[in-house]
Amino acid sequence: MQVCVTGATGFVASWLVRQLLQRGDVTVRGTVRRVASADHLRALPGASQRLELVEADLTAPDSFGPAVRGCAAVFHTASPYVIQVDDPQRDLVDPAVNGTLAVLRACAAAPEVARVVLTSSMAAVTDEPDAGHVLTEADWNEKSTLRRNPYYLSKTLAERAAWDFVSREQPPFDLVALNPFMVMGPSLAPGLNVSNRIIADLMNGVYPGIFSLTWGIVDVRDVAYAHVRAAEVPTARGRYLLVQKPPVSMRTMVGWLREAGYGEGTRLPSRAMDNAAGNLLVKLNSYVQPAGVGSYLRTHIGRVPRYDTGKARTELGMTYRPSRDTVLDTARDLERQGHVARRPGPAGAR
Ligand code: NDP
Repeated sequence: MQVCVTGATGFVASWLVRQLLQRGDVTVRGTVRRVASADHLRALPGASQRLELVEADLTAPDSFGPAVRGCAAVFHTASPYVIQVDDPQRDLVDPAVNGTLAVLRACAAAPEVARVVLTSSMAAVTDEPDAGHVLTEADWNEKSTLRRNPYYLSKTLAERAAWDFVSREQPPFDLVALNPFMVMGPSLAPGLNVSNRIIADLMNGVYPGIFSLTWGIVDVRDVAYAHVRAAEVPTARGRYLLVQKPPVSMRTMVGWLREAGYGEGTRLPSRAMDNAAGNLLVKLNSYVQPAGVGSYLRTHIGRVPRYDTGKARTELGMTYRPSRDTVLDTARDLERQGHVARRPGPAGAR
């Protein structure tokens, strides 16, 4: 079977490509912006026989036609994932929305495409979690704007555009959307992606204290597997929240890292700022942060997400690794890749 993965170089997509190649009977066509930046994909087991790389860009709509031709399933993962940009419309919303539509149009014109799996996000579900509300697949983010969490806006508009396209054009393929929460885990790609940066920043002393931030997290290897399931389960329908339970606070994450010995020589925070005074300080300070970071802090500080993970468990058969394993595997990988430097001397807490 031939499949296409857009944005194949990415953190999530690299694991997806790896798992697809492991299947043995799947040939993968990966779209990349620059073939030269895909060495880590060429090194995957099975790549020399069953991975083809083609160049395509979300801002060049015609580039996806040749990429999806002959594919039974298309995984559309490519989307700019950046928190701080100069022009949110140009740098986030346009490529996410127009790129998604370009991929869907290309799929509609390729009769072999039976299913498109769209990598959406919890960003399309909410940008202001509320412990009083259990999030489900029925929730949509209605608050993000170009000024408030523009990355979240780009994901919301891209997923909405995809569902609108399907209901308007009635293409021959089915669409399944995946809505992962914060994806963490070891990276096959060489760079430091946005979500793993949270753990790198914790270890590198970027946080002056333990903030009242709590994330729903999900392991990148489980997210990749959910993509495979979303393509192969014939009855898969609609959206799927992907997230481990329970949500993990910054305090818990720092505790796990300390227990595993990362208090020695790294700069894990220790000052308690996860209280009312700390929340106020963080909110005040958010106004001097870059706009993307500031709006994220204001909408997430002191908030704990609650969510129902039943649909992905029941319909896709998803189970998840424990969050502690995900966090510690990420820390080990960040250190291996040189994104966290252990410093000699006494325990580096501050
Ligand atoms: P990465 O930044 O690692 O991957 C993003 C991919 O999109 C890269 O391959 C990148 O290509 C590609 N891309 C970006 N802009 C363009 C463009 N203009 N044209 C073509 N390709 C482009 O992020 P992740 O792997 O974390 O994210 C993958 C998907 O998962 C995204 O859709 C993201 O929104 C979604 N997601 C991620 C979560 C997370 O916590 N990581 C959570 C929920 C959803 P290049 O390598 O050339 O830059």
